[in-house]
Amino acid sequence: MKTDETILARDYAAGQGLRVTWRSGKLVSLEPSDAPSDIWIAPALTDLQVNGYGAVAFSSPKLTAEEMLKAVRTMHRDGCAQFFPTFTTDDWAKIVGRVRRVRGWCNQHPELRAAIAGWHIEGPFMSPIPGFCGAHAKEKMVSPTPAHIRELREAAGDAPILLTVAPEQAGVLDIIPLAVSLGIRVSLGHTNASAGEIASAVRGGAVSFTHLGNGCPQTLDRHDNIVWRVIEAEALHPGLIPDGIHVSPPLFRILHRVVDPARFWYTTDAVHPAGAPPGRFMMGKTEVEVGPDQVVRKPGASNFAGSALRPLEGVFRAAEMLGCSWREVWRRYSLQPRKMMGLDTDQFAPGKAADFCVLDFTMSEKPTVVTYIGGEKRSTLPAKGWMRSAGMA
Ligand SMILES: [Zn+2]
Repeated sequence: MKTDETILARDYAAGQGLRVTWRSGKLVSLEPSDAPSDIWIAPALTDLQVNGYGAVAFSSPKLTAEEMLKAVRTMHRDGCAQFFPTFTTDDWAKIVGRVRRVRGWCNQHPELRAAIAGWHIEGPFMSPIPGFCGAHAKEKMVSPTPAHIRELREAAGDAPILLTVAPEQAGVLDIIPLAVSLGIRVSLGHTNASAGEIASAVRGGAVSFTHLGNGCPQTLDRHDNIVWRVIEAEALHPGLIPDGIHVSPPLFRILHRVVDPARFWYTTDAVHPAGAPPGRFMMGKTEVEVGPDQVVRKPGASNFAGSALRPLEGVFRAAEMLGCSWREVWRRYSLQPRKMMGLDTDQFAPGKAADFCVLDFTMSEKPTVVTYIGGEKRSTLPAKGWMRSAGMA
């Protein structure tokens, strides 16, 4: 029988002092208490779009359960308790096969089962137009059928699914209501949908937009483009990559003024070099290089080929761009994605997994962040460039 463990810290949202007690991986109680004024507790992060992590590529045909465990533990180290492995455009049978394979491992490994909270399928029902298809293989884009959608649901069992589609592609508007009826959350992305097509997708039940500001050409029509149309549609929950690079700081700030920030879900959209030391990696058949700035590039090129953002880093970069407290943005990387996907949002309650981050500002404006997963300390990260920023605390 394990003994109780306890920490005194202030709730990141309400600010009240708490005595948090856990045992055998589960929270036992959270009681009001005097707590140090500058030690904070927050639920561990949730990321809905992770293509790979810690040098492990989830779409690799050679992926093993041990590698998946390594990726999960590296995500844990970086403050993220749960995430959605993301499988991008490929032959449909391969995508569904990847879901089945990793799900099979989840049934054998409690640690994988606890960490993998759902699936994000990004493609192949998206735009093949250069610029809009981004790094996806345009020749693999196809029209969806009801059979595709039923097969995906069957492969994933009861787990949450986020499916990114382009509503202007033939057949997509027809399958959205079926996907929604099967509990799939539909996101729009890699799309040049008209305002009318976006409205039709929303009427069919689409709720989200995948990495707003990305998945579109470098140059857009200044009068009418996909970013303006999504902002005007007002009905969608946009995902944002808060690394300061995929969305420029001015655009990031403007988006937070014109879209209700309660609608955003932040994500790394990480590719496998994320969470690994800087160096060179193979992405499919292409060699890429990750510098100390955590940007993934083809060697010698200036444009980026993916994000190597770490979840905790995303929180602090977002706060820095917005000139607000990390406390204000934390929920956009925890509560808000969970709410959109129908995951448990009452993470700080007795009986729930003891998955949380403790941020200690007592020594410096730059915190030390300790992450606990299942009540066990997984990492202590001094935050190099992380600051509490202006605002609430
Ligand atoms: Zn994408």
